[in-house]
Amino acid sequence: MSGYMGKILRVDLSTGSLVDEPLNEDYARSFVGGSGLAARYLYDLAELDSDPLDPHAPMIFMTGPMVGTPMASAGRYSIGALSPLTGIWGESNGGGFFGPELKFAGYDGIVITGRAEKPAWLSIVSGEPQIHDASDIWGLGSYATQARIREKLRDPKARVACIGPAGEHMVRMAAVMNDHGRAAARTGMGALMGSKNLKAVAVRGRAKVPVADPDGFKQVLRDINAFLKEDMASQSLRMAGTASYVDLALLYGDMPIRYYKQGEWDGGNRLSGVLMVEGYQNRIAACYRCPIACGRETRAPGYGLEKVDGPEYETLGSLGSLLMIDDMEAVIYAGHLCNLYGMDTISVGVTIGLAMEMFEGGIISAADTGGLEIRYGDAEIVHKLIGLIARREGFGAVLAEGSASLAERFGVPEMAVTVNRLEVPMHDPRAFAGMAVSYALSPRGACHMEGDMYGVDMGQVPASEIGIIPGDRFDTSKEKGRIAARHQAWRNLYNALTICQFMNPGVPLILRAVNAVTNWGLEAEDLLVLGKRLMTLKRMINLRRGVTRENDRLPEILMKPLTGGTEGHVPDVEALLRGAYEEYGWDPETGIPTEETLSALGLDFLQ
Ligand code: SF4
Repeated sequence: MSGYMGKILRVDLSTGSLVDEPLNEDYARSFVGGSGLAARYLYDLAELDSDPLDPHAPMIFMTGPMVGTPMASAGRYSIGALSPLTGIWGESNGGGFFGPELKFAGYDGIVITGRAEKPAWLSIVSGEPQIHDASDIWGLGSYATQARIREKLRDPKARVACIGPAGEHMVRMAAVMNDHGRAAARTGMGALMGSKNLKAVAVRGRAKVPVADPDGFKQVLRDINAFLKEDMASQSLRMAGTASYVDLALLYGDMPIRYYKQGEWDGGNRLSGVLMVEGYQNRIAACYRCPIACGRETRAPGYGLEKVDGPEYETLGSLGSLLMIDDMEAVIYAGHLCNLYGMDTISVGVTIGLAMEMFEGGIISAADTGGLEIRYGDAEIVHKLIGLIARREGFGAVLAEGSASLAERFGVPEMAVTVNRLEVPMHDPRAFAGMAVSYALSPRGACHMEGDMYGVDMGQVPASEIGIIPGDRFDTSKEKGRIAARHQAWRNLYNALTICQFMNPGVPLILRAVNAVTNWGLEAEDLLVLGKRLMTLKRMINLRRGVTRENDRLPEILMKPLTGGTEGHVPDVEALLRGAYEEYGWDPETGIPTEETLSALGLDFLQ
């Protein structure tokens, strides 16, 4: 099985059992890896009507065939499970070095079930798994946890994925952190890990990932690296990280301001990537074998910090412009607090934004918040709330349940800017209409990693061979919906190959690389079929979790026109969705994949 280690580790934390299992070759061939393969295993192993935090619920760490090879920007891993935040299919992926190291340790993935009697951590060193007592590290922040485990293993190169206090307290927006500040952040995977009493997973090894055609692979890698060297998007990511997008985002109206309700704001310019580089950057940082190197190490001397990870664009939006905070250093510090406690900066920022909007609108008062005045522009209150959320203290315990829960609790569900209970990221579908499909149909709820149509319409994702054609960003037609669906399928495949979405050398080069590693002999159109199969499998899991056609929608606040870069545009969600259902082969009335579609995609077992 070229590209794979051929082995999965099954861990039952309730019994302490550790069992090696051969990787299911048919599953790998059909569902590839990462979130796709995790979804296939989950379908077999999970009680689909159970509580995501049920001890028997599986939590699946998974890599893909490109991970651990010399492929550019393929240093990622996925976690798949039922989400404690949304209640539906959840997936999250993180960069850094953990994914490749898991393969070097001898495994493609880890399936974890059960709940340890007392805090535990898992190590896999060169094919030898072991469960350890984590009582002495329970309560530590994510950075200290990673450092302590490396000390315990006496190996500074061990890679550690762990939770901080937020995961331990089962905060529904808790992340799994690895390689310092890298995060598998979305959908509350940290809460799931906390519910299993599992503090960390550490991996280390020296195994080699088999590649079917090493010479062909070398050649295509040369071509990919040459492309990335010249590529404008890669160059700006290298220069200023994902923060390089702030200026453009403000221009397009893509960066949400004041809880998605304001179209323009001068303060946004003070969050620009150029200012971040000039004023706060220490150095650039890269994931495993990534020539783009979008990672940043920055500093926040005003908060006594000489070394801080980030901030990413998403953090500058969610903890900056969304909350009307234009103090770069305060945003860097807020992002750092989220990393330390182990939380998703998007969900945390959006939930605090909702609290601000409710407070300023008189829906909640200091009597509800434990005396806190939660107002826009107040960085100090944001820093305080982050700690309260992570520890579930005071009003933080209410926010720890997420935006949808907060809005429902105070009788204003329409104020939650969520899709399927996942907070909307920092890309506004009023700026790029195709994002309406990405959000409304994303299997994990509002997600920019399953259809970055802003990238397509800015010409940064060359994939015309499979019908992903850049066009008018305000086009809200059925045909645009079809393009957005194809792109969503393409990104689902990226998440299954477990390669970074900032690496976009085009379909022919990706195809050559995949074939060189796996020897699958795929054609370009096969890639789209694979992506649609993954989307449809996750869709079926969600339908069994109670999702209906009614869930395919955008939040009310995003359907109101704004001035500024969005020029008053609002997407016609129904028209876009009609195109998307058609492209996927899902019934336009019910949103359910048809029998013909399931058969054509090799998903008969779902009928
Ligand atoms: S582009 Fe950034 S996130 Fe992607 S692999 Fe490279 S360093 Fe990691």
